Amino acid sequence: MFDDLKGKKVLVTGSTAGIGLEAARSLASAGARVAIHGSRSADAAQSVLEQFDGGSDVAYFQADVRSSAACKALVEAAADHLGGIDVLINNAGGLGGRNGLESIDDDFFDQVLDLNIRSVVMVTKYAIPFLRKSAEQSGETSSVISTGSIAAREGGGPGASLYGGSKAMVHNLHRNWVKEFTKDNIRFNTVAPGTIDTAFHEDKDQGTRDKISGTIAMGRFGSSAELAPAYVFLASHAASGYVTGQVIDVNGGQMCP
Ligand code: NAP
Repeated sequence: MFDDLKGKKVLVTGSTAGIGLEAARSLASAGARVAIHGSRSADAAQSVLEQFDGGSDVAYFQADVRSSAACKALVEAAADHLGGIDVLINNAGGLGGRNGLESIDDDFFDQVLDLNIRSVVMVTKYAIPFLRKSAEQSGETSSVISTGSIAAREGGGPGASLYGGSKAMVHNLHRNWVKEFTKDNIRFNTVAPGTIDTAFHEDKDQGTRDKISGTIAMGRFGSSAELAPAYVFLASHAASGYVTGQVIDVNGGQMCP
C-alpha cells in the first residue's frame, strides 16, 4: 500500500527488547535504515541484531537515556551513522519499580521521571534539527512517535503513580510540540499500548495476569508484534502525512474509566 519507508533513517530508542524491538524489526523489513538502542553493552546487543531479517540495515547504539548528555551523544551518533534522521521513535521507558506515595523518595522520583520524561524531552530536543532538515530536503513530513500508555489515562497500577503521571506528560508534550513544530513539517504522535506481554510484566504471577486479562475486552495481553504496525503507519508520510497530535490506543479494548 505504501513503500516510502525504503531508505528512511530511523532511530528507535529502547529497541533491544519488547515493543521497541518489534517496531524496529518491522521498520527494517519495510526497508528503513534503523538505529537501534538500549542501555546494554554492544556485546550483549549482538543477539538482538541477529533477530533482524537478513539484509536489514541496522546498527546498535548504547546509551543510558536517563542522562541528558547521553541523549545528546546518542542522537549525534545515530545521525552521524545514518546521515540524518527522518523518523524518531521514543520508546525507551519503564516502571522503574513500584512505590506507593508514602514511599516515594527523591531517588525514586528522579529515576522514574528521568527514564520516562527526560529521555523523551532530551532525545527529541537533540533530534529536532535533523528532523527539520529531513522535512526541508524531502518536502515531506518527518515524524516523532513516542510510546505512551493506557496508564496515562487510568493512572497506572499499584505503586505506579509516577509512571502513569510521566506517561500522561508524554501524551501532553506531543500536543504542545505540534503547536511549536508543525511549521517545520514535523509530526508528533503517541502510541498508547494497553497490556503487552513483555518483560515489563515479569513481576506478575499468573493470578494477577488472569485478573488483568479479565479487564481486557479481548481477554488477553497483546503482543509486541500487534503494536508494531501502529509505529509503521505513523512513520510513513504516505500513510499518515495528515496525522499529528494524536494518541493511537492499541489495547484489545481495555477501557479506561
Ligand atoms: P521492555 O521489554 O522492558 O523494553 C524496554 C526497552 O527500553 C529495552 O530495549 C531497554 O533496553 C530500554 N531501556 C530501559 N531503560 C533504559 C535506559 N535507562 N536507557 C536506555 N534504554 C533503556 O519493555 P516494553 O514493554 O517493550 O516497554 C517499551 C515501552 O512501552 C516503555 O516505554 C513502556 O513504558 C511502554 N509500555 C509498555 C506496556 C506493556 O504492557 N508492556 C504498556 C504501556 C506502555 P536495555 O534492556 O538494553 O536497557
